[in-house]
Amino acid sequence: MSIVMIERKVLQKNDEIARRNRALFFSHGTFAINLVSSPGSGKTSILERTLEHLKGELQVAVIEGDIQTDLDARRIASHGAPVVQIVTHGACHLEAQLVEDALSNLDLAEVRLLIIENVGNLVCPANYDLGEAVKVVVVSTTEGDDKPLKYPAMFRNSSVLLINKIDLLPYVDCDLERLRKNALSINPGLTIFETSCVSKQGVKEWCAWLRSKIFFVSRS
Ligand code: MG
Ligand code: ZN
Repeated sequence: MSIVMIERKVLQKNDEIARRNRALFFSHGTFAINLVSSPGSGKTSILERTLEHLKGELQVAVIEGDIQTDLDARRIASHGAPVVQIVTHGACHLEAQLVEDALSNLDLAEVRLLIIENVGNLVCPANYDLGEAVKVVVVSTTEGDDKPLKYPAMFRNSSVLLINKIDLLPYVDCDLERLRKNALSINPGLTIFETSCVSKQGVKEWCAWLRSKIFFVSRS
């Protein structure tokens, strides 16, 4: 058997479990997002701003994927949201099986929005469906404007792009218009928000988008 065939089998198995997760989310009216980015783009900070903004309005739960440590899960737990930590012990992406296991620790009937924070990596998480409704990719201005061209699969498979650390734009080598253009050249259907976890710019708009999706899911 060739290596290519083994890889295909692994992905087939993953897709099967992802379908199970998706059916479970659907049956509970839970809107699930898979938050992806390279390390340090600000996924956890965006999550914190999101939790603050939706507090008291929507039941949000979080699954935290990290290669090592529960530091991010501790940050999230301090906001009072249910959080399950997955430590991958070196693996550079989450798989549907890990999410399925984590779900046994959550009561989905009580969860309208589930945010899965993936391991910081713009490569293989693009290929692993977790059962989410949408992938949301975060790119910070400190990473420059060429990421969509370098990691096209992630941008092609995502529905939303958050351009984060927008407050740092005057200080970094990133052309915002070029970044937008590069992203849309890979995926013209991307919904784009510009966010800052410091000034909180864009958090309201991002949460309004989430709210509209959740409303749709819980009514269907
Ligand atoms: Mg994080
Ligand atoms: Zn990986």
